[in-house]
Amino acid sequence: MPGGRGMRGGYLTEEEKANQPKVTKELLKRVFSYLLPYWKQLLLALTCILVSSAFRLMPTILTGRIIDEGLIGRNMDILVKLIVLLLLVTIGAEMIGVLESYLNSWISQHITYDMRNKMYDHLQRMSQKFFTTNNQGDIITRMTSDIAGVQSTISGTFSSILSNSITLIVAVVAMYRKNWILATIGMVVVPLFTIPTRKAGKTRWELTREAQAVNDEVNGLLNETLSVSGQLLVKLFGREDYEYKKYEEANGKMIKLNIRESMAGRWFRVVLSTLASIGPMALYLVGGILMMKYDADLTVGDVTVLVSLLGRMYGPVNSLLNIQVEWIRSMAMFTRIFEYYDMPVEIKNCDNPIIPKEAYGNVRFENVDFSYDGSRQILKNVSFELKSGNSVAIVGPSGSGKSTMVNLIPRLYDVTGGSVKFDGVDVRQLDLNYLRNNVGVVTQETYLFNGTIRDNLLYAKQDATEEEMIEALKKANIYDFVESQENGLDTMVGNRGLKLSGGEKQRISIARILLRDPALLIFDEATSALDSISESKIQEAIDPLIESRTSILIAHRLSTILSADEILVVKDGEIVERGVHEQLVKAGGVYTELYETQFSKALQQEKERMDKE
Ligand code: ATP
Repeated sequence: MPGGRGMRGGYLTEEEKANQPKVTKELLKRVFSYLLPYWKQLLLALTCILVSSAFRLMPTILTGRIIDEGLIGRNMDILVKLIVLLLLVTIGAEMIGVLESYLNSWISQHITYDMRNKMYDHLQRMSQKFFTTNNQGDIITRMTSDIAGVQSTISGTFSSILSNSITLIVAVVAMYRKNWILATIGMVVVPLFTIPTRKAGKTRWELTREAQAVNDEVNGLLNETLSVSGQLLVKLFGREDYEYKKYEEANGKMIKLNIRESMAGRWFRVVLSTLASIGPMALYLVGGILMMKYDADLTVGDVTVLVSLLGRMYGPVNSLLNIQVEWIRSMAMFTRIFEYYDMPVEIKNCDNPIIPKEAYGNVRFENVDFSYDGSRQILKNVSFELKSGNSVAIVGPSGSGKSTMVNLIPRLYDVTGGSVKFDGVDVRQLDLNYLRNNVGVVTQETYLFNGTIRDNLLYAKQDATEEEMIEALKKANIYDFVESQENGLDTMVGNRGLKLSGGEKQRISIARILLRDPALLIFDEATSALDSISESKIQEAIDPLIESRTSILIAHRLSTILSADEILVVKDGEIVERGVHEQLVKAGGVYTELYETQFSKALQQEKERMDKE
């Protein structure tokens, strides 16, 4: 593409050169398998391209006849006829062009529609591990830019190769039919000028890339400092001036580069365009000599046609010189997308998944080992049992593996050794939907979607009635708050729920889980300190739940711990102690230490607060 589309110039970057994909038969087959469903439309588009490219050159060729037969031959009749024909051909070419653009866009959009859906579906099924190890930006880039790139490849590259080749072939044939000497001069002149132009383009393209890098830097800066949390940090540390200076500097760098970029190769282009007019001059001169000295079979119209055909060859030649680059780039894009498609779905249903009639919520860990990366062991030989109707609290120092333990139950990850059983069946044998429907998790970091409280509740149960929602909110001890809001259930929670306090968000997420009514409730208590009023509100919400439901609590507060039937103490991925509070305190082990450092302090504060009140 002459000029290129922004960053996608006609040159490969060092990185692109190093990462050139291997174009194998399999890859091509795979690419074409996405085109195949649209073969009828493709065929039609192809025909349109052929016809319109040929038609577009017709006016140039007709001009010769207008000059020779109409003007020089002084024949009004032919002149009018040719002009009408010219008009018809032009209109025809444009009409076909419209159809061609429509088909082009239709086909490429449909192909990318298929690819995007497939990608999204695949990504949704990827395991939690995929999302924790891959950068979110990269994932989104594949979904958006890479697929958009594929679309422009299909609509741009393929059709430009075709239409440019046709234009070129038609032009060359037409030129040779007029006069072989002049045509040969043309053949020599065209590459002579396109190649240096490409060189100048490259300098400019490199500057564009540099400008783009600075632009990215500026964007990163903006993203960081103008985000909610970024601004908070800037304000709290009083770094406004510092950030401003940083921005001003980057901004200055950017404008300098932009100016350089727009001027790059400008002088070179002046020289080149002057030189480029040498082509037509040569044709006029040689044409004149042939006509006058050698009495060649050449007319004024012929020379005019040859000159204008020559002018129309630069563009296609330039484009075709870019093809290799475009091709490599397109293949790289397809390869990157296929790489994602080929990532195995790690956590999925087994061949004949079991869907039990009823869920009770019994959980059993049998000698469970687990590692995230295959090398560092996070859980070691963990065994415990939770009977339906009971509750267990997991306590332990930060990073000991508590969240990891519970993540194994709804199969966010799979064990690396031993097994986790739900109602006596290995979770890997159960239907994933069934399992996740019956295991409700209130995570440490509550995530609410940007929408209303109602939207967030309905996420758990699409057909929940107003009464059900109200009941869940009441149970979660948040109904009073919701009711006091002007819009009630239709109150917007803001971006990621940021308009609500941490405690409110937690209670809404509890209500959300309650609507689901899972057989097993897992509550990962937030470590972040909430104020004691929020805490006691959450406590009031979960206490009755623990009483009435099978639950696992990752607990940081003594009151939560005390309400559980059994306490498991985890340290470095192992259950080191288990029992009830009194027993464990007496034992003088890890629990006693935790109790003395964490829980009793919290208890003390709680007492002081009660005394004050
Ligand atoms: P806290 O009380 O602070 O929430 P925790 O006991 O719940 O801690 P886990 O979150 O289970 O601890 O983490 C246990 C260990 O596993 C930690 O050392 C942590 O660094 C590591 N870990 C947690 N999540 C991942 C992950 N997605 N990939 C790799 N390692 C992880």
